[in-house]
Amino acid sequence: PASVAAEQRKLSPENLLVITVATEETDGFNRFMRTAREFNYTVKVLGLGEEWKGGDVARTVGGGQKVRWLKTELLKHAEEKEKVVMFVDSYDVIFASGPEELLSKFSRLGHRVVFSAEGFCWPDQRLASKYPEVHSGKRYLNSGGFIGYAAQLSAIVNQWKYKDNDDDQLFYTKIYLDKTQRTKFNMTLDHRSRIFQNLNGAVDEVVLKFERAKVRARNVAYDTLPVVIHGNGPTKLQLNYLGNYVPTAWTYESGCGTCDDDLLFISEEEEMPLVYVAVFIEHPTPFMEEFLDRLSTLNYPTARIRLFIHNNVVYHERHIQRFWERHRSLFPGAVLVGPEENLKEDKARTMAVEGCRKDPECDYYFSIDSNVALTNPDTLRILIEENKSVIAPMLSKHGKLWSNFWGALSPEGYYSRSEDYVEIVQGKRIGLWNVPYITQAYLIKGSILQGKLSQVSLYEDKGMDSDMVFCRSIRDQGVFMFVSNRDEFGRLVDPSSFNTSRLHPDMWQIFDNPVDWKEKYIHENYSRIFEDKKGFVEQPCPDVYWFPAFSEKMCDHLVETMEHLGQWSSGSHKDERLAGGYENVPTVDTHMNQIGFEKEWLKFLKEYIVPVTEKLYPGYYPKAQAIMNFVVRYRPDEQPFLRPHHDSSTFTINIALNRKDIDYEGGGCRFLRYDCKVESPRKGWSFMHPGRLTHYHEGLPVTKGTRYIMVSFVDP
Ligand code: UDP
Repeated sequence: PASVAAEQRKLSPENLLVITVATEETDGFNRFMRTAREFNYTVKVLGLGEEWKGGDVARTVGGGQKVRWLKTELLKHAEEKEKVVMFVDSYDVIFASGPEELLSKFSRLGHRVVFSAEGFCWPDQRLASKYPEVHSGKRYLNSGGFIGYAAQLSAIVNQWKYKDNDDDQLFYTKIYLDKTQRTKFNMTLDHRSRIFQNLNGAVDEVVLKFERAKVRARNVAYDTLPVVIHGNGPTKLQLNYLGNYVPTAWTYESGCGTCDDDLLFISEEEEMPLVYVAVFIEHPTPFMEEFLDRLSTLNYPTARIRLFIHNNVVYHERHIQRFWERHRSLFPGAVLVGPEENLKEDKARTMAVEGCRKDPECDYYFSIDSNVALTNPDTLRILIEENKSVIAPMLSKHGKLWSNFWGALSPEGYYSRSEDYVEIVQGKRIGLWNVPYITQAYLIKGSILQGKLSQVSLYEDKGMDSDMVFCRSIRDQGVFMFVSNRDEFGRLVDPSSFNTSRLHPDMWQIFDNPVDWKEKYIHENYSRIFEDKKGFVEQPCPDVYWFPAFSEKMCDHLVETMEHLGQWSSGSHKDERLAGGYENVPTVDTHMNQIGFEKEWLKFLKEYIVPVTEKLYPGYYPKAQAIMNFVVRYRPDEQPFLRPHHDSSTFTINIALNRKDIDYEGGGCRFLRYDCKVESPRKGWSFMHPGRLTHYHEGLPVTKGTRYIMVSFVDP
């Protein structure tokens, strides 16, 4: 016991040295170092700034250069009796725990040298049978992680006399399989992942274990909590997933633990970074005017933006043209590629990104697709400050799980749902997430485009969609793609039912894009109706309420749609559109079903009118049914007024669609029982009054111009 205690004492963290290799400070390397710092590991990095001659290790054999460097380094420590050295790869390794736990686990394994283990015998499978059998755990050696006394390790690597692209794992394997050497160096493998977790072949064995202030990876096959997690071979994405949590990247106690680590601060005096902003309009997209408007209201100096627009949709040329006329001068050197140029999406994306790649002044490249409603005008600055190689603002369809990132990749390279996907989309876990796929809006550092990605075809590959090519290229270069849900950036617009054959197709988007629809078509003061007891509602006549409903746009688009259709009724009693063919109180009008807007209208009633009714007539719960929904046209020479009548409704809404004294003169409504007139209707404001008994009313004569109102008989 005394000698064991002595041995234990010897294994104090001061005696531990971690050695790794990194020729470049990649995203993976920086992640490795951050976890090392967190546990106060002393790390010696070999090879920084040198050329990698170890071959394409991720795909095939190689890595010998690592051993050559290690050999030289270990010579310095060979004489230090108490020195314990751990060698690990760096690009695909993270620490889950600190030196004390590592050393105590090492000493409990009771060997001088411990290599990590995995389930595959690589690179020479013929050696498999030569391995000692194990009854539990992984049988084969992996050289991405090992720990041992400096003396023994040095003696091992001293035998290296091969080429830089020869295989390091084969080298160590042969020594391990040589029983004499194995005994001499007192070597073993960490079969049950007490220290080293190699993920290849073991992805299903490893789960996150959330503690309060930290997260570990647990091996559920052997019930161990490994200290070093290695995403060897094709398991880099799984490591990225684990690395989003382990050890404190995100915890239940403090949320994102690394988010503020390397923020970039742009000082006020400094000139803002130059950003190439590339806009892609590849498909007909609802709310295009609003999309383009947001480009001009970004909270970023447009003089520091180089705008590129690829519009591949003839229908949108009208929108682009209006935007171009008004805003082009704001954006120096703006480029517009229209549909007449017949440029395919992938080629257009290449063309845009080349702009930044070829301009040494380009600091960032921001790509945005037309279905992104970027409602946060500070998005560019926020993303720049996050200081990542590649970062996307998280966006999702309103109230849906459809978003612009994937949490995981299927084996075929397509969408797969990660365990945390829903929580990230719903904002229940907030942070920066290293993910395998982002799309629709993202920022890339110019330095990465001009450096690591300079030779890569980012968007073009035969038969593959450009978004897939993009993400695969980035992943293959070992560059991390982050998605941020730290801020609210906006949402995705759903273009699936967009029908450009209509005059104002956005009007029909109430189902698919309810938020955009509301912003465009509902009166800006609508929500104030509900503010307090009285609210933003007037009562010009007894039980006749008056409140803001439609935006100017809604009024205009509705009238224009009716006029465009040009099928106004004659205003006579005979009406083919009705079941009985007879209208008792006829008007010159157009019904909602004539423009195919009935479903949408009922949705509007349900979403926007029912809550008002329930507030104003408490205790009545509208069914929000309505068959008679129509726009009436009053003109002096056509039908200037409407004689007194009741409506066949429980209540009626009547929305003014244009402006008194500007678009028409006269008009208004009189409630006979109260002898009360409303003579100055406001555009976009709605009346609401009972239909059948008390509110006998008439339409007052229009004396000049044309007056339009929208009428709906609710709950007939
Ligand atoms: N490495 C390096 N420069 C390179 C490639 C690799 O320094 O250009 C080092 C780095 O430590 C990396 C290790 O070699 O973690 C092994 O490479 P990789 O992680 O790609 O291989 P795998 O673990 O998949 O065999």
